[in-house]
Amino acid sequence: PQRTLVLVKPDGVRRGHVGEVLRRIEAKGYTLVAVELRHADEALLAEHYAEHAGKPFVGALVDFMRSGPVLAAVVEGHRVIEGFRSLAGATDPTVAAPGTIRGDLARDWGTKLIENVVHGSDGEESAAREIALWFPAL
Ligand code: ATP
Repeated sequence: PQRTLVLVKPDGVRRGHVGEVLRRIEAKGYTLVAVELRHADEALLAEHYAEHAGKPFVGALVDFMRSGPVLAAVVEGHRVIEGFRSLAGATDPTVAAPGTIRGDLARDWGTKLIENVVHGSDGEESAAREIALWFPAL
């Protein structure tokens, strides 16, 4: 079966949404393969967000991702990459549909950076790359 990398971002951890995010993943029937609370360093995050390198928000994004612990998880299941992105909802918390993680738990605080509670890999290639980066032993 397919695997994806899920992160509960520092806003989600701070606001106590770790259990809720894991609950939704398990309720959907996906399997948790690895779960770890991590303090990500700059090098890891620069690699994680390599595809955004040079974009105006990437510096603030990396700072935000270092502002507290993140929960990193490898999640497994048939079509889980697409399935988790569907659970997560749209990137913009205001637009994300109610019923989704972002629609229910994230909101737009009017800051420049989008704080949206979770990350999920966006394709098979990035999933493989991100899992190897966050969980090299897997
Ligand atoms: P993720 O990759 O975290 O699951 P995503 O695929 O919905 O989210 P991307 O376009 O890959 O969104 O952007 C990665 C992250 O960068 C977003 O989740 C958000 O936190 C931040 N971000 C994206 N676009 C912007 C923007 N225009 N301004 C500020 N922050 C942004």
